[in-house]
Amino acid sequence: MKNLSDRTAGFTDSVIRRMTRISNQYGAVNLSQGFPDFEPPRAILDRLAQTAREDCHQYSITWGARNFREALAAKQSRYMGRAIDPEREIVVTCGSTEAMMAAMMTVVNPGDRVIVFSPFYENYGADTILSGAEPIYVPLQPPSFCFDPEVLEDAFRRQPKALILCNPSNPCGKVFTEEELKLIASLAKKYDAYVITDEVYEHIVYAPHHHIYFATLPGMWERTISCSSLSKTYSITGWRLGYTIAPPEITERIKKVHDFLTVGAAAPLQEAVIPGLQFGQDYYDDLLEKYTHKRNLFLKGLDDLKIAHTNPEGAYYVLLDISRFGYESDQEFCETLARDVGVGAVPGSSFFREPVNHLIRLHFAKKDETLLEALNRLEGLRTKIPVRH
Ligand code: GLN
Repeated sequence: MKNLSDRTAGFTDSVIRRMTRISNQYGAVNLSQGFPDFEPPRAILDRLAQTAREDCHQYSITWGARNFREALAAKQSRYMGRAIDPEREIVVTCGSTEAMMAAMMTVVNPGDRVIVFSPFYENYGADTILSGAEPIYVPLQPPSFCFDPEVLEDAFRRQPKALILCNPSNPCGKVFTEEELKLIASLAKKYDAYVITDEVYEHIVYAPHHHIYFATLPGMWERTISCSSLSKTYSITGWRLGYTIAPPEITERIKKVHDFLTVGAAAPLQEAVIPGLQFGQDYYDDLLEKYTHKRNLFLKGLDDLKIAHTNPEGAYYVLLDISRFGYESDQEFCETLARDVGVGAVPGSSFFREPVNHLIRLHFAKKDETLLEALNRLEGLRTKIPVRH
């Protein structure tokens, strides 16, 4: 038989999703793949039960059910500070995963270059391969995860078609400052590049940091495709509801790509989440308070155990330093951790372009009791995982 596609031959499975399977296999507390174990808001679940009996079980309009888009446009207009047109500037997708893929397919030709900050969320690697783009990696240097402006400009000198910006950033928890965003904006303009954002953690930004939507910077609306999702904001990662927001000329093209990729997101789920989109500011304040509490609880627990870690400014991930264990392979370390300590984590190497094997990622989007159980198990880290020399 002939070979399968060259393009996908180098694919590994997703390390994040693999670690969920390994965690399940060993009955570990799964802090690898980032999703909550607490309930979505009641109002959304109640509406979901009602929709079962309503007339919304066939395809919605391919770029999203009108009432969903209207509710989303109203909410995003409020937060982004500009009037978003629900008809011409929004495409509803199957999670921001599809939003990013559709954005890439819309913008890049095979062979085009795309700037990706490293560490990066692993899907971007696959997105560049599937769209035939060549990534140019720009390091975010720990511990502050700042980038070197010179290195970034060097990357722009290679005439990339686009830059991918994950803000707040998964996995390092960086929240880009206004100054950094303005610098990226000036380079995007100078070298005429598009910016594709991933802003799924837009409402999980810890004080004193605050989120700035890249598209709202002067001159950036025209060249930005903002991708986001309802997964993290309403704790519904399994509903796969995401979207792009972009100017009409770009959105017109994204609509077509999306139509041929998936036709549309689940119609009853779009209907059911509308009460969530209509929540007032209180909801977002409570969400942030909840995550701030979880972050403090989990980081304090790690401090008490004397485990060195990053301090996330946004999102819900923390990188732990495992250098002292002397493992060559962080994948092997994570498997041992799941099996012998009972905690699921993601090997840091799956996020970095640079050769990094001393970091693992845990997330804290879990009930307090789950986090306390994980911390309890992590107490056994030193005794259960022998140091290698
Ligand atoms: N964004 C989450 C993470 O990084 C979940 C990703 C996924 O599996 N879709 O873990």
